[in-house]
Amino acid sequence: MIAAMDILITKAERSKLKELDLNDLPFGKYFSDHMLEADFQNGKWQNIEIKPYQPLLLSPSLAALHYGQAIFEGIKAYKDPKGNAYIFRPYDNFHRFNISAERMKMPSVPEDLFIEGMRQLIALDKDWIPTKQDHSLYIRPFMFSSDEIIGVRPSDTYKFLIILSPTGPYYGAPMRIYVEEKYVRAAPGGVGFAKAAGNYGGAMLASAEAKKKGYDQVLWMDAIEHKYVQEIGTMNVFFIIGNSAITPNLDQGTILEGVTRSSSMVLLKEMGFKIEERPLSIEEIMEAYKSGTLREVFGTGTAATISMIRELRYKDYVMKFEVEKWKTAPLLKEWLADIREGRREDKYGWMWKI
Ligand SMILES: *Cc1c(COP(=O)(O)O)cnc(C)c1O
Repeated sequence: MIAAMDILITKAERSKLKELDLNDLPFGKYFSDHMLEADFQNGKWQNIEIKPYQPLLLSPSLAALHYGQAIFEGIKAYKDPKGNAYIFRPYDNFHRFNISAERMKMPSVPEDLFIEGMRQLIALDKDWIPTKQDHSLYIRPFMFSSDEIIGVRPSDTYKFLIILSPTGPYYGAPMRIYVEEKYVRAAPGGVGFAKAAGNYGGAMLASAEAKKKGYDQVLWMDAIEHKYVQEIGTMNVFFIIGNSAITPNLDQGTILEGVTRSSSMVLLKEMGFKIEERPLSIEEIMEAYKSGTLREVFGTGTAATISMIRELRYKDYVMKFEVEKWKTAPLLKEWLADIREGRREDKYGWMWKI
C-alpha cells in the first residue's frame, strides 16, 4: 500500500459545498472540492497528489486528444443511515479499469493508487456524499495518454485522475428503445469490453438519430449477423422470459461486463430465476413477446441502476410493455438501493467501508 505520506494533500481554501443545492443534482454536473492526479513517467506512477479541483493545462499536441488512448470508470459511494461512508464493489471497477488499460496499450494502475487514492480522496470530501435516499457520490477515475507528440504510437506518459460528483436520483422514467440495425458499437476483436472513451463518441450519432425518432436509446446488435442483442448505451440488458433471466454472454468481447449486471444476476438468482448468459436473438425476443412469455426488459448500470424498458422497436415491429404491472425490475432496483444505502444486510460483501 502507498502510505498516506506518499500522497501529497493540498486542501482547498474554502469548500464549495455550501453553494450546492442538494435538491437539484443532475448527473455529472457538480464536482467536489478535491481531485486526485498522478503521472506515469519513466515507467512508474509518481507526483501522486490530492488537490483542489481545478482545470488541467494540456498541450494541443497531447496524444490522447488525437488518438484516443483514454479510459474511465464509474463507481458510487453512499452513506448508511448512521452516516458511515461506503463504496459499492470498488475492486470490481479497479480490475475492469486495468482490463481496459491493457486493451488500450496503457500502463496498469496499481491498487495502492486506485483504491487507496480513491479512499483518501473520498475521506477528504466525505461531506459531499449526499445522505438522501437514492442519492450518491459518483466517482469517476480516468486515464489518458499525455505525450506531447503527434505520432501514432502508445504514449510513454499518462495521467490518472479521480474526480467526484454528487448526484441525485437518476431520471428514472421507463425507456423507449430502438433496436439499432445500421450502426454497430463493437465487433469481436475490437474494444467493446473496455470502458474506452472512443466507444461512447462512436455511439453518439446512433443515439441522436434514435432520439430524433422519439426513442431514448438504442439497443445494439451484434456486428456480424445483426441478429443478437448486446447492450444499451451504458447499460447491460436483461430479458425476463418465463422463469429465466437472460442476458447476453460476454465471450465475444463486444459487451462491457457491468458490475450492476453481475450484482443483478446474484439477486435475480436469489429471487428464484434461472440465470442464462447466452446469445439472445431479436427473433427469440419477438416470439416470446407474441406468445406472452416475455415478462420484463430492463437495463442495468451504475448511473441509472435498473432502468425499465416500456417499448422496444425492431424495424416496424413495436413491442409495448405495461411496466406499472412489473414486479421484478422494481424489486431488484429497491433491493440494490437498500443494500447500497445500508437499509438491508450486505450478505455478499459488496459494500467497502471508507
Ligand atoms: C459502464 C457500462 C455498463 C454498465 O456497467 P456498470 O459496471 O454496471 O456500471 C454497461 N455497458 C457499457 C457500454 C458501459 O460503459
